[in-house]
Formats: sequence, C-alpha cells, structure tokens
Amino acid sequence: MRAVQYRTIGGGPEVVEVPTPEPGPGQIRLRVTAAGLCHSDWFVMDLPADKYAYGLPLTLGHEGTGVVDALGDGVTGVAVGDPVAVYGPWGCGLCSACARGAENYCPRAASLGIQPPGLGAPGALAEYMVVDDVRHLVPLGDLDPVEAVSLTDAGLTPYHAIVSSLDKLAAGSTAVVIGAGGLGHVGIQVLRAVTGATVVALDISEEKLALASEVGAHSVLRSDDAAVGAIRSLTGGVGAQAVFDFVGAAPTVEIARKSVALDGVIQIVGIGGGLLPTGFFSTPMGASVRAPYWGTRTELMEVLDLARAGAVHVEVEKYTLDEAPEAYRRLHEGAVRGRAVVVPGD
Ligand code: NAD
Ligand code: ZN
Ligand code: ZN
Repeated sequence: MRAVQYRTIGGGPEVVEVPTPEPGPGQIRLRVTAAGLCHSDWFVMDLPADKYAYGLPLTLGHEGTGVVDALGDGVTGVAVGDPVAVYGPWGCGLCSACARGAENYCPRAASLGIQPPGLGAPGALAEYMVVDDVRHLVPLGDLDPVEAVSLTDAGLTPYHAIVSSLDKLAAGSTAVVIGAGGLGHVGIQVLRAVTGATVVALDISEEKLALASEVGAHSVLRSDDAAVGAIRSLTGGVGAQAVFDFVGAAPTVEIARKSVALDGVIQIVGIGGGLLPTGFFSTPMGASVRAPYWGTRTELMEVLDLARAGAVHVEVEKYTLDEAPEAYRRLHEGAVRGRAVVVPGD
C-alpha cells in the first residue's frame, strides 16, 4: 500500500510503498477514508535527532477516519464495513484516567510505550491503518468522513480546552481566540455553540481573519501590539474571561497575559514554544494558565454530535496521497484555509 512517511531527520514527508499491515489479536484494520494534516506534524518533523522520539520511519497522520476492513482475533463490537473515526490519544485503558475516558492524560502510556497513531504508531496517512483496540473507534454514522476527520483533533482539542473553561464563559463574557487556523476556526464555532461568550479572533493573516468572521467570530483583530488595547476597549477595560491561544508563541502568550481578565483563564494550546510566567505581578489576580492536550473519548463523541447537529463544521482543502507533501508545504507556509485533508482513495 502507499503511505506518507517521515523517514529521515530533516527529510520532510515522503510518499512510499510499504506492506499492508495485518491486524493482530484485538486489533482492527481500517481502509482509510480520510486523514487530516496538523501543524503538530511539522513540530515533530522540525525536531533535531536528540529530541525526536517517534521512531523512524513514521507513517504520519493522527487524524483518521476509515471503514472497518479486517478484524484481528477476538475483536467484537464492530463489523467489516462500519464507518468509524479514530480516537488518537491512546492510553492504557486500565487506569482511572482511561476509565473516565481521559486517555489523553493516561499516566501509564509513556512507560508502556503506547504512542498515538501518526505520533509513534503507524498513522492514518496511508491506504490502510491498524487501530490497537475497538475502544479507540467512534462510529461515524452519517457523517461524511472527509468533512468529519479533523474533528478528531482540530475539533476535539479546542472542544476539550473550551469545556474545561465553561464556568468562565457565561453570557456577557468575552473569549479571545488567537490563531484562526485548523484548530482555531473550529474553536470559534465551538465557543458559539456551547457558550454565551462574545468571540474575538486574532490572526496575522487577512484571509484567516475573514474565515474567522465567516465561522462566527463577533470581531477580528490583527495579532499585533495594538491587539491588547483593542481587547481592553471591546471589554470596557475588563479583559477577556478566557483566552485560547492556538499559536502558543512568545508574542501570543504575551497577548494572552495582557488581555485576560481578573480570575480569567488562559489555555495555551499551540506548541509554538512560548512560556508564560504565572504568579503575582505577571498574570492578573485569580487568573489560571493551562496547557491542555488533545481531548477525551467522550468529548470526541460530543464533538461529532455537534457536527451532526450542524453546529460546527471543518473547512476542508482536499488532497490525494501523492499530493500530501505539497499539502504539508502549504500548511507550513500558512496557506491552508481550514484543514488540509488527504483522501487516499482519490
Ligand atoms: P494552523 O497552521 O492550521 O493554524 C495556525 C494559525 O495561527 C494560522 O491561521 C496562522 O496564520 C496563525 N498565526 C501564526 N502566528 C500567529 C500570531 N503570532 N498571532 C496570531 N495568529 C498567528 O495550525 P493548527 O494545526 O491549527 O495547530 C495550531 C497549534 O496547535 C500548533 O502549534 C499545533 O502544533 C498545536 N496543537 C496542539 C494540540 C494540543 O493537544 N495541545 C493539538 C493539536 C495541535
Ligand atoms: Zn494535531
Ligand atoms: Zn491509562
């Protein structure tokens, strides 16, 4: 089968021919119907050899949907032909975090060598992929896989950050979204769907600001030195009750620090290397700062339900497997509108 792999440090993604995987006991093989490209893949491919911990060659793709294609010994609960989405942050399945569905915070995964597909285990950017357990499949039902695939990360990750800040986001509150890319443009819609907040979106690109308005931001601002003053004036001097930073670079965490309200919350989702000193004389009194990771199994089901209800959608640019390296290049240049999705069958 064909797959998109990261094979050598600094070498970028390559389309290669690899053996079609066989599902072992308890595992499920999917025929991949769609795979989303995330900026985190670039973070991984930019790491120097001494920081790189995902194995080589690595089949990329941690957003996946597929149709059940073959069952390993002992698998029950799904049947060949079922359309499913893959829950990516695989945990051990046995600890208390996993028991409540928060496999994204499994404390045992690292020591057991369990890694997500596309981030250690072979990922979804291939014609077929193997999922380690039926627990990591969520039925897609009528959802279109190409439209839905990025809900597994670009939807789930903002949703997880937002629902953990719900107590701050009553009617009359303000939420700031920094970065209206793959994650941010879904985050804006989730905020509109599940909170009463007024949504202010920031980006450095006019096209992304236009997208932010289109998907429901009440106001948009260029992400520059003037943004903090503008957020203060939009909020009568109070600041934003919640700031979701989908960039996480030094200048954006600084905007977050200066624009959050007293007792507000900053969620640093982007992994742009920015650090935010927290404490008296840095962040406002009462404000909390959190760096959340991905989301829980139940939250993925909820995000898919939001899409079924028509409350959120992903703006998709479609590519073939052969075009994946080009799609990654566009993502790196900031040229992708919404999410780039590869359809291996095309
Ligand atoms: P993306 O490239 O699709 O979107 C990034 C957006 O940020 C673009 O619209 C870009 O124009 C904008 N931007 C860049 N610099 C900016 C600045 N200074 N101010 C405002 N906007 C700016 O990326 P994505 O796939 O949406 O990922 C966003 C970030 O989230 C990445 O760092 C990614 O690695 C990270 N991520 C984290 C998690 C997690 O679990 N915490 C999960 C997925 C992705
Ligand atoms: Zn991701
Ligand atoms: Zn666990």
